[in-house]
Amino acid sequence: IGKHIAIYGKGGIGKSTTTSNISAALAEAGYRVIQIGCDPKSDSTNTLRGNNYLPTVLDSLREGNKIHLDDISVKGFGGVLCIESGGPVPGVGCAGRGINAAVNLLQELNLFEEFKPDYVLYDVLGDVVCGGFAVPIRDGITDRAYVVSSSDFMALYAANNLFKAINKYAPTGGAKLGGVIANSMKPGYHREIVDDFVAKTGTSIAGYVNRSLDVQQSELYGKTVIEAKPQSAQADIYRNLAKYIAENEELVVPNPLGSSELRDWARNWGDRIYDIENGVVGVAEAI
Ligand code: ADP
Ligand code: SF4
Ligand code: MG
Repeated sequence: IGKHIAIYGKGGIGKSTTTSNISAALAEAGYRVIQIGCDPKSDSTNTLRGNNYLPTVLDSLREGNKIHLDDISVKGFGGVLCIESGGPVPGVGCAGRGINAAVNLLQELNLFEEFKPDYVLYDVLGDVVCGGFAVPIRDGITDRAYVVSSSDFMALYAANNLFKAINKYAPTGGAKLGGVIANSMKPGYHREIVDDFVAKTGTSIAGYVNRSLDVQQSELYGKTVIEAKPQSAQADIYRNLAKYIAENEELVVPNPLGSSELRDWARNWGDRIYDIENGVVGVAEAI
C-alpha cells in the first residue's frame, strides 16, 4: 500500500534533511506519509518532530515487551508518521538486521493497511557497504531508490556503489533508480560535475538543491524548511523535488562506472577544474 521510496547517500550528505523536507512537502500537499529512518544514528526524523525523543524499533525489541505502534512512532509535522529503525549495539554490527526487524515488526503491526500511506520514505545510510545497506532495494521493500549526492568525489563514489547494488539485484526483482538528488549545489561547476556523472552512468537528475542557510537555520529550530520557512525559495525547491519524486515513473537500471573508470573520470575533472579556474576554458567547453 502506497509508493515505497528509498533515499540513499553517503553519511552527512543531506539524506535526512532532504527526505524530511520531501515528507513535509508531501504532507503539506495533503498526502499521508510515513518516514522510516534506517540509519543507526536514528536522527532521520528529528526535524519533523521538533527533536522530541522517539524510541527506536531495535531498542524496543531488545527490551522484549509487546510493542504497540505508539511505542515506536510519533506523528510529526503535517501528520507524517515518524519511525526510526535504530541500530545494533555499537561495535557489534547487524548486517541489515535493523532494517529487516523494523520492517517485519511494522508488517506484524499491520501498519501499512491501517495507516494507508500514500508514500513511505526510507532514509538509508549508503556508504557503509555491509549487508544491511542493500536490504531495502534487494528484498522487495521498495521498487525505487534515489540517491543524494553533492559534486564531491566521495559522495559520487557512494552513489556509484549504490548503482552497482541496483545493477546486481534489479534482474531478480530488486529496486530501480528514480534519479540523483544533487544536493549542496553552489555557483560554479558543481552542477556540471553531477550532470556529467549522471550522463556517464545512464541516470538522471531528480532535482538540484542549493546549499542554503535556510536549511541550517531551520535545523537549529528542530524543523524542516517547509515548516520553518514556508515562503522561502528553498521551500519551493523541496516542493518541486517532492512533486517530481511523487510522480516520476521513469525508473532505470544504472550503468555504474568501474573502479578505474571512476578514478579516470575524477582525475579528468580535476584537470578540467584547473582549466576552468585558470580561465583556460569555460564550463561548457570543459564537458
Ligand atoms: P545525512 O542524513 O546524509 O547523514 P543530514 O541530512 O543529517 O545528512 O545533513 C548533514 C548536515 O548537512 C546537516 O547539518 C544539514 O543541515 C546540512 N545540510 C544538508 N543539506 C543542506 C543544504 N542543501 N544546505 C545547507 N545545509 C545542508
Ligand atoms: Fe551497521 Fe550494516 Fe547494521 Fe547498518 S546494516 S547498522 S552498517 S551492521
Ligand atoms: Mg541521516
